[in-house]
Amino acid sequence: MSVEHKGMKERYEPKEIEEKWQQRWSDEKLFRVKEDSNKEKYYLLEMFPYPSGKMHIGHVRNYSIGDVVARYKRMRGHNVLHPMGWDAFGMPAENAAIEHGIHPAEWTYQNIDAMRAQLKRMGFSYDWGRELATCDVTYYRWEQWLFLKMYEKGLAHRKRSSVNWCEQCQTVLANEQVEAGLCWRCHSEVTQKELAQWFFKITAYADELLEYCQKLPGWPERVLSMQSNWIGKSTGAEIHFPLEGSTDVITVFTTRQDTVFGATFMSLAPEHPLALKLSRETSQAEAVRDFVDRVKRQNAAVRSSGEVEKEGVFTGAYCLNPMTNARIPIFVANFVLMEYGTGAVMAVPTHDQRDFEFARKYDLPLIVVIQPEGETLREKTMTEAYEGEGVLANSGVFNGMSSPEARAAIVRYLEEKDLGRRSISYRLRDWGISRQRYWGAPIPVVYCDRCGIQPVREEDLPVILPDDVRVTGTGESPLASHASFVETTCPACGGPARRETDTMDTFVESSWYFDRFACPDYAGGILDKKRVDYWMPVDQYIGGVEHAILHLLYSRFFNKVLRDEGIVSFDEPFTRLLTQGMVCKEVVRCPTHGLLYPEEVRNGRCVHCDRPVEIGGKEKMSKSKKNVVDPEYLIDRYGADTTRLFCLFASPPEKDLDWSDQGVEGSSRFLHRVWRMVFQRMTVIKGAVLPGPGTDFEGIDLELHRKTHRTIRKVTEDIDRFHFNTAISAVMELVNAIYQFESKTSQSASVLREAIVMSVVLLSPFVPHIAEELWHALGCRESVLLTQWPEYDSAATVEEDVLIVIQVNGKLRDRMSVPVSMEEKDLKKNALSRPRIQTFTQGKQVRKVIVVPKKLINIVCG
Ligand SMILES: [Zn+2]
Ligand SMILES: [Zn+2]
Ligand SMILES: [Zn+2]
Repeated sequence: MSVEHKGMKERYEPKEIEEKWQQRWSDEKLFRVKEDSNKEKYYLLEMFPYPSGKMHIGHVRNYSIGDVVARYKRMRGHNVLHPMGWDAFGMPAENAAIEHGIHPAEWTYQNIDAMRAQLKRMGFSYDWGRELATCDVTYYRWEQWLFLKMYEKGLAHRKRSSVNWCEQCQTVLANEQVEAGLCWRCHSEVTQKELAQWFFKITAYADELLEYCQKLPGWPERVLSMQSNWIGKSTGAEIHFPLEGSTDVITVFTTRQDTVFGATFMSLAPEHPLALKLSRETSQAEAVRDFVDRVKRQNAAVRSSGEVEKEGVFTGAYCLNPMTNARIPIFVANFVLMEYGTGAVMAVPTHDQRDFEFARKYDLPLIVVIQPEGETLREKTMTEAYEGEGVLANSGVFNGMSSPEARAAIVRYLEEKDLGRRSISYRLRDWGISRQRYWGAPIPVVYCDRCGIQPVREEDLPVILPDDVRVTGTGESPLASHASFVETTCPACGGPARRETDTMDTFVESSWYFDRFACPDYAGGILDKKRVDYWMPVDQYIGGVEHAILHLLYSRFFNKVLRDEGIVSFDEPFTRLLTQGMVCKEVVRCPTHGLLYPEEVRNGRCVHCDRPVEIGGKEKMSKSKKNVVDPEYLIDRYGADTTRLFCLFASPPEKDLDWSDQGVEGSSRFLHRVWRMVFQRMTVIKGAVLPGPGTDFEGIDLELHRKTHRTIRKVTEDIDRFHFNTAISAVMELVNAIYQFESKTSQSASVLREAIVMSVVLLSPFVPHIAEELWHALGCRESVLLTQWPEYDSAATVEEDVLIVIQVNGKLRDRMSVPVSMEEKDLKKNALSRPRIQTFTQGKQVRKVIVVPKKLINIVCG
């Protein structure tokens, strides 16, 4: 079948039309937005990228998901803000400087240009007028301003502290950047180092950050529970253990004060001030000193993990259990950390597994003080600690109480006797923001010998990062060797002073960029409150789950700081959050040459040695696995629309996406099919008008009309739920129906036109270029983005019922009428719950339920 008409375009040529439409959109400033109080705003944001210089497929997926929502919301009448910018400070720029001698700024801005061009080739609907780069002084000057405000309020403070240090990267790492004792970026071992550091007091907001975890229904449960655990609030007691022969006490924090009668020794962190002091006068002095020196070099995360053998050393000193006055030895132990609790742990070996192992190793006494229900534990026969709750024993007046009762009663007792108090502890630490790096925002502080720490005066901002710095990659911050940067005058006394040479953690920049997108050009302050109040909070935020803790928690913290400064007026920055899955692809290996890139494989053989290759499991795409697909290659070969369609169709956004070449081919074929569908039917539908409401149809016309409107409903509902893959397959079904439809009457032409127009409109958020081309070919003048999202005719989507026969063991037993689209599992459930059927299945086991769609259900039992 071939329908010829004048000007028919035979072939879909993505390259040609994509460039054309991108240019038109840009010329028409289609994606520019302004605040408009008459329109409901919608702020859609994807986590902004680090400008590595090359867009990877993870970006493409992330931004394609966002673009569907942005375009869809716009067509639904929202005023949509969809900005893009660059998280532009950071280490790779400095590494490039070290390796290639290129200036970090030059490298960064070149990369930004390259990535902007790549993003534009994907046709994303960004308002490029709002683009920002965090390494730009017009951005980071406001961050410095905010630092000063935080300093005034005591939310930024400096202290000496033991920090995680990566020798390889020559920098301090936040706890969150240490993964199982290794640097998150270079995976080399992290050690400890003492440095004076700047900290942001995120702990001041611990309670509110935790409380609001309950008030974010639009966030994935998993992310909220990760954040709650990170904050790690626990309620318990502080208990003072008197030192023998002294008026001093050792204070511990415990959530299990119900076990205090079982405390038979004390464990101190090697960094605890008493660790060395207590042993000084004893024969243990040397042993303790050696132990402390050795353990202090180990990494905190490794020490507290299960991987390290628990060991300790006796200090030679004793303290008293405040409840029993029993004399208990004091140890220094490698698994106790100074940063958590008080750096001292009351050890209850019967009810804590770590203490149990330690007690067995050093032959320390055990006392059972919690008896589990229906069981009697004995010290001699215990093979592991019992960590659960139960009834108190060997606990004086508290005997017989349940664990919760005892916890409350013991806290009261401690407070009455002045032996301790109720206490709350958090796992969350303050955020160390000092980095010994060049390519970051300078911390606006100077040090004066006479006046000490002095904040830079507001009118002296910004502290500009100097250009002429040699980056060598070793030692202190490169700024420390820049004399004219370092040497300055004290804002207080006017005498000579030195500038702070550390720069801020790049997570500071990403903690408020989303606010700045509302007013990127604002020069009168950090934020233009009016515009920020219009756009913020972000309605939908999209990004990788790897940011579930760090970035999202810091951003929430900054929001609360800005709110308390009166700069913003909302409590949380992100109303809804979607964390998209990873893009995975199988790895390919040659027995001789190891991992291979796709281009090193031909016909299942290695191009170097011609041996057959092994196809391994699917893993996250990464350069090191050589299983990456370059999006530019895909755009060149198939076009941006195919690339977008594949990413959206292959799996739901929050799931991992398995790469498949066939999947890409399939997406491409579908778009060719849509193209032909429109042009081959052009002569038939050209003069036809869309059917008005209430038009009566018959036969195949009625069927296609219903199909069209059910598709509109399905796609609308699915986009609202982020089920893009099922939305796309619904349009694919409609396209199939259009291919099967033979136009006979004048009414048919109008029904057909409706089906074709709607499939183009419904596809437009996913594949905007081809949709735009077809939309115009169908005679429309304006961008498809400016048309209204279609409403479905509810009369046409009313479900038809279908009569289904129910058999039990092959014999007809019942009939039921159900909506035609009822899913299989519901059909089964309905059939099995019918009283008449139950009389036949009663007392028998249902072995199988066979469903023949729209016809029958057979229940096999016996
Ligand atoms: Zn590192
Ligand atoms: Zn001074
Ligand atoms: Zn080979």
